[in-house]
Amino acid sequence: MIPEFLKNPPLGKPWLLYGFLGTSLVLNLTLALRDGDAPAPEVAPAAVAVAEAPAADPNAAIPPELVPALPEPLGVTRRAGTNVYSAPVQSSLSAAFQGAPSKSPAALSAVYSRLFVWDVDVRRDLHKGDRVDVLFEENDGVEPLVLAARLTLNPGAAGERVVDAYRYQAQGDRFPSFWASDGTEVPRRLIDGPLADYEQITSLLKDRPTHEGMDFKTPIGSEILAPRAGKVLRVNWNHAANGNCVELRFSDGATAKFLHLNENLVKEGQTVTAGEVIARSGNTGRSTGPHLHYQIEKAGRTVDPVDYHGTLRRKLPPELMADFAAKAKELSAQLDTQVASAAPTP
Ligand SMILES: [Zn+2]
Repeated sequence: MIPEFLKNPPLGKPWLLYGFLGTSLVLNLTLALRDGDAPAPEVAPAAVAVAEAPAADPNAAIPPELVPALPEPLGVTRRAGTNVYSAPVQSSLSAAFQGAPSKSPAALSAVYSRLFVWDVDVRRDLHKGDRVDVLFEENDGVEPLVLAARLTLNPGAAGERVVDAYRYQAQGDRFPSFWASDGTEVPRRLIDGPLADYEQITSLLKDRPTHEGMDFKTPIGSEILAPRAGKVLRVNWNHAANGNCVELRFSDGATAKFLHLNENLVKEGQTVTAGEVIARSGNTGRSTGPHLHYQIEKAGRTVDPVDYHGTLRRKLPPELMADFAAKAKELSAQLDTQVASAAPTP
C-alpha cells in the first residue's frame, strides 16, 4: 500500500519532514455544516443499493459483492464547472468566502481551511488584507472539490508569506492529494495511523473540538490496521450509533476506537500486533458517507491522534517534480485569471 518511492526514497534521509502540530490550529471557521459524526454527505452507491433492498438493516455490513469499486481518480484535468474565486480577508476566513460563486460558501471555506490548517493558525496569522484564491468544482450532493488554493499573508509587504496547495495524484498513490509548489504534501499524515492510505482527513480535533475523533474519508473495504500492538477490549458496542466497531488497548494503556466499520476481523480479548489488519472500513451506524472514525483516549481523557501518533510530511521524489510542476503551473495560472480580471484598470 505504501508507494514504492516512499519505501525507497530517492532523496535519502531525511526525506521526511517530521513535525508535530505544536502550533495551534485554532480556526474561526464556520464548520456548522459538518454536523454529526461523519464527513460531508456524499454519494454512496452501495449504501443506496442496500437501502433499496426490502427490510434491510441500515446498520448491516455491506456484503463484499456490493462493496463499490474504488472511484476513478479525479486527477487535475477535469474542467467542467470550474470556478475561480479570489478575495481579500476583511474579518475572518469564513467571511472572506461569503461572496464565493458557490452553493455553499461555508462548505468551500471549510474545505479550503482544512488544507491550510496544518500550516496556518488562522486566529494568530491571518490579518485584514490577506488574500484567498481558490480554484474549485461543484457537483451536486458533494462538498466542493478544490483543485488549487492559495493563501497570501501580508501580500506585498516585507513579511509576505504564500502557502499553496495543488491537487495532484502522485504515481503510486491510491488517491490524489494536495502538494505545495515545492513538492511538499500539504496535509500531514499520522506516523503510525490506522490506514495506510485514504482519500482525506475530513475532521480533526483541532478544527472541531466537540467531535472526539479524527475522520478519514476512505472507500468501504479499506484495510484498518492496528496502529500499535495491543488487545481487543470490545467490539460492536452501541451498534446503532457506532455501527460495527472495535476498541483496542495499547500497551501504554491508551485505548483506540474504530467506528463505522464494514467488517470486524478481530474478537474481544484477542491480541493484535502493530500493523495487523483488524477490520475493513465501512459506513455503518450513524454515518453519512464511507469513512473511519478514529478516537484515542488515555486516563479517561480524549487525546488528539495527531499528538498521540505524531505526524509526518511527504515530499514528491525528484523524478515526479517536472510532471507535478507542469500541472501546478497550469492550475496556478487558472488561479491567477481571477486576479488579472479583478485588477483595477488604469
Ligand atoms: Zn467521526
